[in-house]
Amino acid sequence: MANERYVDPVCGMEITNIKDAIGPIEYMGKKYYFCEVEDKEKFEKNPMKYVKSKKEEKVKSMI
Ligand SMILES: [Zn+2]
Repeated sequence: MANERYVDPVCGMEITNIKDAIGPIEYMGKKYYFCEVEDKEKFEKNPMKYVKSKKEEKVKSMI
């Protein structure tokens, strides 16, 4: 059995049971699960706020 770990990117809670989780939402090729509908809605409104992009990290290291 695959033991992939998912963390709710909005509140930071670990998803222990995907069957009870909200989702998945696919964003930038990655799947995200949420502990409640509210978190999912927050994520959908502004996913950039919750997902750290690799591009951003690159820019920071260049400065
Ligand atoms: Zn949550």
